Amino acid sequence: MVKKEVIEELKRIVGDNDVLTSKEALRAYSYDGTTNWIKEPDVVVFPKDSQQISEILKIANKEKIPVTPRGGGTNVSGGSVPWFGGIVLCTTKMNRILKIDKENLTCTVEAGVVLQDLNNALAKEGLFFPPDPQSFLGATIGGIVAENAGGPACVKYGVTKQYVLGLEVVLPTGEIVNLGGRTLKNVAGYDLIHLFISSEGTLGVISKAELKVNPIPPSKKTIIALYDDVAMAGETVYRVLENGVIPGKIELLDNWVINRIEEMMPLGLPKDAEAMLLFECDGIEEAVQKETEKVVEISKKYGAKDVRVAKDADEANRYWTARRAGFAAVFGKAKTVLSEDVTVPRGKIPDLIRRSQEIAKKYGLELVILGHAGDGNLHPSFLTDVENKEHYEKATKAMEEIIYAAVDLGGVLSGEHGIGLEKQKFFSRVTDPKVVNLMKNIKALLDPNGIMNPGKIWE
Ligand SMILES: Cc1cc2nc3c(=O)[nH]c(=O)nc-3n(C[C@H](O)[C@H](O)[C@H](O)COP(=O)(O)OP(=O)(O)OC[C@H]3O[C@@H](n4cnc5c(N)ncnc54)[C@H](O)[C@@H]3O)c2cc1C
Repeated sequence: MVKKEVIEELKRIVGDNDVLTSKEALRAYSYDGTTNWIKEPDVVVFPKDSQQISEILKIANKEKIPVTPRGGGTNVSGGSVPWFGGIVLCTTKMNRILKIDKENLTCTVEAGVVLQDLNNALAKEGLFFPPDPQSFLGATIGGIVAENAGGPACVKYGVTKQYVLGLEVVLPTGEIVNLGGRTLKNVAGYDLIHLFISSEGTLGVISKAELKVNPIPPSKKTIIALYDDVAMAGETVYRVLENGVIPGKIELLDNWVINRIEEMMPLGLPKDAEAMLLFECDGIEEAVQKETEKVVEISKKYGAKDVRVAKDADEANRYWTARRAGFAAVFGKAKTVLSEDVTVPRGKIPDLIRRSQEIAKKYGLELVILGHAGDGNLHPSFLTDVENKEHYEKATKAMEEIIYAAVDLGGVLSGEHGIGLEKQKFFSRVTDPKVVNLMKNIKALLDPNGIMNPGKIWE
């Protein structure tokens, strides 16, 4: 329980209006992008600059109050849920784009800038920030860096860590440090910015970021390839890449997702197709044309029963809007959804799909698969209900087997969603204890009182 005097101190720092303690507010900040974990904080604060964050953290550190940083609250692994109560420190009022430097292809932003707002501002200069979590309408740069978020465009462009040149971070003790810089290359000492990328709010609060951005490619084409077999679609992914074409995006949707999309926004997709691959080639026009032809040729060669090239930007946008709706379609269809984030080397995608299907069959469950197949990152999902004990237990066991199958295939537990609360037990089982220990020692060094987002990553 946060003491009354501390609440008064917080009000002095950020102002009365930016400290919330009402029942409704605490409820609103008690969950993440799912409703799988719910825990209310004692208070929610909205700092407006790094100095205010520093003052808040100094008090929290002195009083040993847990602090959970929060941006848009769109994560799906429990990261922003204040598991031990205390303070939710929400950065959404730190939403200024401080600089767009077209000459150097960089920008400087506060942590609470929403990705879509950044891309709108960059587009005016002919630029974009490539990592594209599909939650871009709500996800903030702080959350994106803290989760090292990815998205469809990462096949060609890479994930967030490839775009962070510098960070301003407020340490749990209240010190403000600047890491990295504004240059593309930087090997001056330890690469500390990468400690904070994917740290899930457990090491400090990211207050500002210096990001690399790219010019918007002048030409784009969208291709859809339809299959009678999900694993065959998985094979096409690495066949396209090994044939020298690196599309901007390669996404996979299975029959269940195709049918939900057709219910929500009919696009004329064949409802009997077992899987669909959605490609986007981007770059200069001539190259895009040639790459598109190659994608069509390879998809057909490796078993696509139908391949279509979107005739214009409108048609292409419809497909990508449908893809974005895919995740919401899964989460909107059941009381509880177990949706994983496993990632395997790309050549192993067909094996992962086959093994996941076998596991689902063994437990008599319906499996839903969608994901960023171009990165080897799939979101196999089971629709269940935590209150239906028998079904939920089966779904949980089946998902555990899928996770171990991915690790067995040389993969990892999480490609982009993080460990949070969700994957803790797997993390300690599949990670070398010496490595876990090293991470815990780093945490203890930076956060001696363990106030930053306690209860996350480790059991
Ligand atoms: C519909 C939907 C689609 C999604 N699609 C994708 C996708 O394609 N790819 C992908 O990678 N993810 C995806 N996600 C997951 C999520 O949107 C991302 O993880 C995103 O980066 C979270 O940003 P956020 O601002 O909402 O962070 P939050 O959810 O608020 O926080 C996420 C984590 O970061 C920490 N954090 C937040 N801000 C800071 C800060 N300033 N300093 C330190 N730590 C901080 C929090 O403590 C928490 O642990 C999706 C989620 C949804 C709901």
